[in-house]
Amino acid sequence: KILGLSTLSGGGGLLTYSDSSPLRSILHANATHDSDGNPIRKKKVVVLGSGWSGYSFLNYLNNPNYDVQVVSPRNFFLFTPLLPSVTNGTVEARSIVEPIRHLMRKKGFEYKEAECVNIDASNKKIHCRSKDGSNLKGTTEFDMDYDILVIAVGAKPNTFNTPGVEEHAHFLKEADDALTIRKSVINCFERASLPNITEEERKKILHFVVVGGGPTGVEFSAELHDFLVEDVAKIYPTVKEFTRITLLEAGDHILNMFDKRITAFAEEKFQRDGIDLKTGSMVVGVTADEISTKERETGKIVSEPYGMVVWSTGIGSRPVIRDFMQQIGQGQRRVLATDEWLRVEGCDGVYALGDTATINQRRVMEDIAEIFSKADKGNTGTLNKKEFNGVVKDICQRYPQVNLYLKKNKFKNIAQLLKSANGEDTEVNIEKFKQALSEVDSQMKNLPATAQVASQQGKYLAKCFNKMEKCEKKPEGPLRFRGEGRHRFQPFRYRHFGSFAPLGGEKTAAELPGDFVSIGYSSQWLWYSVYASKLVSWRTRMLVISDWTRRFVFGRDSSSI
Ligand code: FAD
Repeated sequence: KILGLSTLSGGGGLLTYSDSSPLRSILHANATHDSDGNPIRKKKVVVLGSGWSGYSFLNYLNNPNYDVQVVSPRNFFLFTPLLPSVTNGTVEARSIVEPIRHLMRKKGFEYKEAECVNIDASNKKIHCRSKDGSNLKGTTEFDMDYDILVIAVGAKPNTFNTPGVEEHAHFLKEADDALTIRKSVINCFERASLPNITEEERKKILHFVVVGGGPTGVEFSAELHDFLVEDVAKIYPTVKEFTRITLLEAGDHILNMFDKRITAFAEEKFQRDGIDLKTGSMVVGVTADEISTKERETGKIVSEPYGMVVWSTGIGSRPVIRDFMQQIGQGQRRVLATDEWLRVEGCDGVYALGDTATINQRRVMEDIAEIFSKADKGNTGTLNKKEFNGVVKDICQRYPQVNLYLKKNKFKNIAQLLKSANGEDTEVNIEKFKQALSEVDSQMKNLPATAQVASQQGKYLAKCFNKMEKCEKKPEGPLRFRGEGRHRFQPFRYRHFGSFAPLGGEKTAAELPGDFVSIGYSSQWLWYSVYASKLVSWRTRMLVISDWTRRFVFGRDSSSI
């Protein structure tokens, strides 16, 4: 009795089955006893988090030999790419969430609505606290043991300790944040429409400030601008002339992780639309009434009154992860480090996925240097063109970060980078290569903190877990890539399928694989179809499509409910 096909992360489908299905009972019967009929003790896998990486892991995990327990303060999966559309009522918050209990029931996993507050890696225990324990009288905290821990808790907004941000700015990370922003925008218009308000006060209330010119800040500014132009102008005609959107970016450009053509187009479009784009402007403080910035060109501190501030400047580690990092000797690092198999370095049986972790760069560079040394069979310190090309291909396939670095620095491939270090030599000098590599090492970016990376990591780890017993029984799998011995699985490899930057007015910029850039209405339709297809269930897909249709036909809902 096949129930459905999952399409999370777009990478093919996964067959799921009902609790009563014969397929399930066969799988479970085989799994709970070994070939001699002795019962097998199931390994306890505790998964922290129900976001992109955690949900993807759970969705693809199909091994009945694990007793899976999920701990997350959020009993739903949230489709974050459509969160900016919730802030102006284009899409409803309920349309982009999928209750986690559906998946738990289908898979036979257990869920606890709680937050993990401490990880004790030496005793393989976690300490949890119920999200809302106000009526529970003494039962709000509990401990759980694990054999394997999968950390997928994501990250928290990073304020860089800027004074007043926590107290006065809005973040855009969770469904509740988007709903609060929506109410706040409408409330600003209602307040500005009251009688006896001075013109100055009106201007202040209707000044919307967005901090951070990354994809989220840009998309939010674009959505807000659409709302003001398409809906607010009709609903609040008397105050529309007082509205202003300011986008503050500390760097030289917005969307600086995108192709330069996209950045230029976005900056021009925002200027045309009347969005006040200020680059080289770093926020140094926020009070209840004013936001202060330090201008790079003049070095002066400038303060401006505002009605609402949205803070979107990047992410940082959650407190539970910071404590855990101290415990396992990673206290000096900024982000939790894993190896390429997503195992947390410095402890046993713990994996980390998504925004919460990063693959240790140093190891990657050591491995790359080792691939070169291995290819240099004659130990001559040089490689010929054929050997070199093989190595280059291997590196680029294994390490997408290298590709991202090359692209950013306008090298077509690693061979071109080496040409700049190595001149026109027909043989590649390994020492010179290593020098070029140290440059890459210091500048190379981590994998981007995106849903694409998180969901691919979840899927990768689930597939490893699905094959775990088979590989333990037959360890003659692929040779371990680094050091001595064998490793059972290929390391994680990220495949980049491209990125979108919605710019408002039914225009989107798309950066697709192969250096292909498309900007305009056609990309907007591509955006609609890709996101509709990536939604995790038919229920959410139908809801989102109906929200988009409602918006086209009736406009956005401007009630502050
Ligand atoms: P999350 O998805 O954040 O999930 C973390 C989970 O852990 C949540 O369920 C949370 O409740 C739970 N949790 C938190 N603390 C604890 C704890 N202590 N114990 C247990 N559980 C805990 N990426 C793209 O690729 N494309 C986009 O268009 C895009 N748009 C975005 C728009 C917005 C507004 C935002 C905020 C992000 C966007 N991203 C996008 C980035 C993407 O959402 C993240 O990279 C992705 O969510 C990371 O997945 P994750 O599993 O690491 O964390």
